[in-house]
Amino acid sequence: MPLPQQHWRAPIDLHTHSSVSDGTQPPAELIRSAAAAGLGTVALTDHDSTAGWADAAAAASGCGIDFVPGIELSTRLGGKSVHMLGYFFDPEDAELVAECERIRDARRTRAESMVARIAEDYDLTWEDVLAHTAPGASVGRPHIADALVTRGHVLDRSEAFETLLHPRSGYFEPLYAPTPLAGVALIRGAGGVPVLAHPATRGRDSVLEEHYLASLVEAGLAGVEIDHRENTADGRAYLADFAARHDLVVTGSSDYHGAGKPNLLGENTTSPEALERLAAQATFA
Ligand code: AMP
Ligand code: ZN
Ligand code: FE
Ligand code: FE
Repeated sequence: MPLPQQHWRAPIDLHTHSSVSDGTQPPAELIRSAAAAGLGTVALTDHDSTAGWADAAAAASGCGIDFVPGIELSTRLGGKSVHMLGYFFDPEDAELVAECERIRDARRTRAESMVARIAEDYDLTWEDVLAHTAPGASVGRPHIADALVTRGHVLDRSEAFETLLHPRSGYFEPLYAPTPLAGVALIRGAGGVPVLAHPATRGRDSVLEEHYLASLVEAGLAGVEIDHRENTADGRAYLADFAARHDLVVTGSSDYHGAGKPNLLGENTTSPEALERLAAQATFA
């Protein structure tokens, strides 16, 4: 069953993180910030978790703004990390739930292992990281970064990512994740609508190869997030052309992480028409 047609309130921000993953605000507080920032619709897209949906939806109806349930699924192709946004899916779909649990378990093992290696050279414990991680949250490098800040090894998350947490630091470990193609299939299989997140953060040449992008479209990719602060100008131009040729929906979003990143709610937005096109493809209501 498609969702009943709805006229979404603008402005619309389709990509935010709460403390259920690596944002700094609990879901309800994030929604209140979104309303205070003047947004009409906000999606919660925590990494590999839907645990914030209920609190966020309740807060949104209390604030009089529209809520879009979402996720940012970790996927990987070879050595390349690819983020797949998903909207309007069944949060109890057995396959998607199982894969998210597997990724969250891998996140924890990987973070503990990175911390053990950093701890050989710096004062840092796993308990330091847990102190910055909400119970049950999808743990990641941002939580390690917060612990490094508290220990005084770096000034902020950005410095941590440029130094100890950088893929070439010697402390980095890759994260287990399904392929982007499997991610698209999982989200579609759960009745949802997949949108490729920030596909061009390292330029036109960093975008997935065109034949692979086309296979994602074939599998049900519905859109691409073009208006995102980290997409480069040449990457955006290429993606806009690809989206037009494949009739994909184009979205724009903040990727807000609370105090964890400079990204501001509503700094990029999605048109109501684009969101209507996405919602019209959902088969779980
Ligand atoms: P991980 O999932 O553990 O590989 O960490 C990636 C996450 O860290 C993504 O959600 C990013 O939003 C976040 N991130 C990446 N670079 C930075 C940065 N410079 N400052 C803060 N957060 C970052
Ligand atoms: Zn994040
Ligand atoms: Fe992302
Ligand atoms: Fe994100």
